[in-house]
Amino acid sequence: MDDLLTIGEFSVSCGLSPKMLRSYAAAGLLVPIAVDAWSGYRYYSPAQVHRARVVAALRRAGIGVEEIAGFLDAPDPRRFAEWDERIRQSAVTHREALALARELLREQAEAPGSSATTERKTPMAEHLSAGAATDAGGRADNEDIALVGDGLFAVADGLGGLSEGALAARTATETLAAAFAADATLDGLISACREANRMVWQRTGAEQTGTTLTAFAITSDRGPVFVHAGDSRLYRMRDGLVVRLTRDHTVTAELVETGALRADLAATHPHRRVLTRAFGVGPSVEVDYAGVLCRPGDRMLLCTDGAFEPLSAADLTATLRSESTPRAAAEALVRHAVRAGTEDNATALVVDIA
Ligand code: MN
Repeated sequence: MDDLLTIGEFSVSCGLSPKMLRSYAAAGLLVPIAVDAWSGYRYYSPAQVHRARVVAALRRAGIGVEEIAGFLDAPDPRRFAEWDERIRQSAVTHREALALARELLREQAEAPGSSATTERKTPMAEHLSAGAATDAGGRADNEDIALVGDGLFAVADGLGGLSEGALAARTATETLAAAFAADATLDGLISACREANRMVWQRTGAEQTGTTLTAFAITSDRGPVFVHAGDSRLYRMRDGLVVRLTRDHTVTAELVETGALRADLAATHPHRRVLTRAFGVGPSVEVDYAGVLCRPGDRMLLCTDGAFEPLSAADLTATLRSESTPRAAAEALVRHAVRAGTEDNATALVVDIA
């Protein structure tokens, strides 16, 4: 028993605090080999130092206690690649969140009525250039639509399969474009959404179908805005950083928002494709809308789930950065999604603001 280490000695040799060691002992991760029945002192064996140092290193890498315990029971070196990717993703997410916070502060400073004197130009339709690409991906038919209109850009992902999904997507985008052309105000755009929903509901109401719709528009009274329902997305790239501006209206995204589901498990969750909102599945639809702060040099991306789902956030950013024209960027994104084995239709629409 001479070579046993007290908790203090063990703590020094592995770099974990006595408090941490007690909690890992309780969790069964690092159990002292002896406890003095009389004093309650814990003793560790020198052979446990190695395990403790592995635990300490993995904890510093942000790996959870339960995960470490499972790993140490049956160490599989492939886990390192998985953890490495998770850390990379979380760094990307953190940088994007930071960029968003920085921008929100800037937005407030630049808001009308504030003391800041920075002049902000509203991008006009003639300062925009756009390009789109779509591919059936892993499906026989393509039910995605990309619309490049006059100051109006949209993607729609028809649901339900066969030709009904395509009809829903086409009806929604065509109705939206016609109504927005007649009234390009924000109110006009909102009523255009109502009209688009009604038309899809009327034409396909008997069928199990509907469509997502995400649109970026330059309104005549409020400048750039988005309207959105479903799980297609709008992103903005500024200074090489990509921020997502829309929320997914899916069962899993809502579970993640309420903290009931871990974000990294959402991508493989069986209900990740179950929508909570879509156009044409009922007599009315609740649409998210918001103003979008744009300035020259910004690149907007609208895309369907088949395009973003197979790509990591880092890949999406790298692809958006790598191409100079909107068309080439949209094509590269769709090509990457198809190459990554997307099981769904993949559509991307890129709008550059000059
Ligand atoms: Mn889809």
